[in-house]
Amino acid sequence: MKVLKFGGTSVGSPELMKKLLDIIDPAERQIVVLSAVSGTTNSLVEIGQAYLAGDKAKAASLIKALKDKYEIFIKELFAKPEYLEQGKEVIDYHFDLLSKLSNDLFTNIEDKVILAQGELISTTLYHVYLKEIGVATVLLPALDFMKIDEDNEPMVDYITEHITPLLEARPDNKIFITQGYICRNSFGEIDNLRRGGSDYTASLIGAAIRSEEVQIWTDIDGMHNNDPRIVKGTSPIAQLSFDEAAELAYFGAKILHPQSVFPAQKYKIPVRLLNTMDPKAAGTLITNASESDKIKSIAAKDGIIAIKVQSSRMLLAYGFLRRIFEVFERYKTSIDMITTSEVAVSLTVDDTTHLADIEKELLSFGTVDIDKDQTIICVVGDFGAEKHGYAARVLEALKHIPIRMISYGGSENNMSLLISTADKTEALRSLHNRIF
Ligand code: ASP
Ligand code: MG
Repeated sequence: MKVLKFGGTSVGSPELMKKLLDIIDPAERQIVVLSAVSGTTNSLVEIGQAYLAGDKAKAASLIKALKDKYEIFIKELFAKPEYLEQGKEVIDYHFDLLSKLSNDLFTNIEDKVILAQGELISTTLYHVYLKEIGVATVLLPALDFMKIDEDNEPMVDYITEHITPLLEARPDNKIFITQGYICRNSFGEIDNLRRGGSDYTASLIGAAIRSEEVQIWTDIDGMHNNDPRIVKGTSPIAQLSFDEAAELAYFGAKILHPQSVFPAQKYKIPVRLLNTMDPKAAGTLITNASESDKIKSIAAKDGIIAIKVQSSRMLLAYGFLRRIFEVFERYKTSIDMITTSEVAVSLTVDDTTHLADIEKELLSFGTVDIDKDQTIICVVGDFGAEKHGYAARVLEALKHIPIRMISYGGSENNMSLLISTADKTEALRSLHNRIF
C-alpha cells in the first residue's frame, strides 16, 4: 500500500484539488496525506499570536479574513447545492471553534488546537468533494493514531498498532485520507510535528504500515543539484541515498522536512519526490542505494552564527569541549558545525534565542568572537575516507571566496564550508560551474 502526500500548494486552490485525481488512482488501495491549503497555517499562526497577545479584535478579524477565503473556495469546489451545504457546515464548524477560543484562558495548548484546523479542513473538504463526484473514501483521523512521546519523538509502534485496525476495518475501501502535520502528545493533547511536518507524517505512516513506497508530491520536480532560485541550469537529482537526502533536506533544500528521512530509512521504505504540476517527471527517488564517487548536490543554509572560543587552557586539557557543549545543552541550542584547533574551537548555531546568555557563559573559558550573517555551503555526495580529490575540487571552485570554517569527514556524504552570506550567490554559482 502506497502513501501519497500532497503539500499545501498541491491543494492550494479548488482547481488543483480537483486535479489530484489525475495522480491518485481510485482503483488502488492507498493512504493520501494532505497538508493545509497553502497560506492557511501561516494565518493560523497569526491568529494564535493575536490570542496569545490578548488581542481578541485582531484575532477576530484574521479569522474572518481566512473564513472569507474558504467561502469562495467551497463555492468553486462543489457543484451540487447539497455538497456545497456540507462544505459550508465543515468550515462553519472549524471557524466557530477558532472564534470560541476567545472565551478561554489562552495557552500553548489552545494555540496548537488552532494550528491543527488547517489540515482538518483540507482533508474534510477533499473527502466531501470526492463523495460528490462518486469516489468513496474513508477519512482517517490522524489524532487517533499519530503520537509523539515526552521528547516529542514519534512513536512508530503506537502508530502501527492504532492505524492497522482502522485500515483492516475497511477491507474494500481504496482511498484513505488523513491529515498531515497534526498529532497527539504524551498528555493526549493536540500537537503537531512542526512546520512542514506533513512530509514527516507521510514517512511515519509509511514506516508504520511498512508501505511499499512513500510519494511526496510538491510543486517542484524533485531535489535539485543546486538552489534553482540562485543558480541557472540546475537539474533534478534522479537518485539519492537516505543519508544524502538527510544532509540536503537539513541544509537548504526546502522540499523535504529533514526528519522525514529517518523513519523511511529505518524501515527501508523508498521515498519519491514528485511534482504535482508535472506528474510525468521522474522526480527524485530516495533509497538505501548510493551512487558512489559522485558529487550529487550543493545546498546552502543562511542565518548561521559562528562562535569562536579561544583559550590557552584548552591546550592539552581534557573535558574542555564537554564543558563548552554543556553551555549549549543548557540553553537547548543545537550546534551544526564544529572545527577545532589546539587552542580554539569554532562552532555554528542557527538559533539566536539564547545567544546573549550563551556568550556570557562562554566568556568564562576565554575570548569569544561571534560572527553573524554566515551561510553554510554543503556539498553532498559519496566521499568515503578512501576517496580523494573531492575536497580539492570544492576548494578550487571557492579559491576567490574567504572561508570561515571547513568541515569534512564528519560523515561520508558531506563537506560543509562556512562563508559570509554576502558571498553565497558567487559560491553557489562557482561550485555549480566547476563541479557539474
Ligand atoms: N501545514 C503545515 C505547515 O504549513 C504542515 C505542512 O504543510 O507540511 O507547516
Ligand atoms: Mg512542505
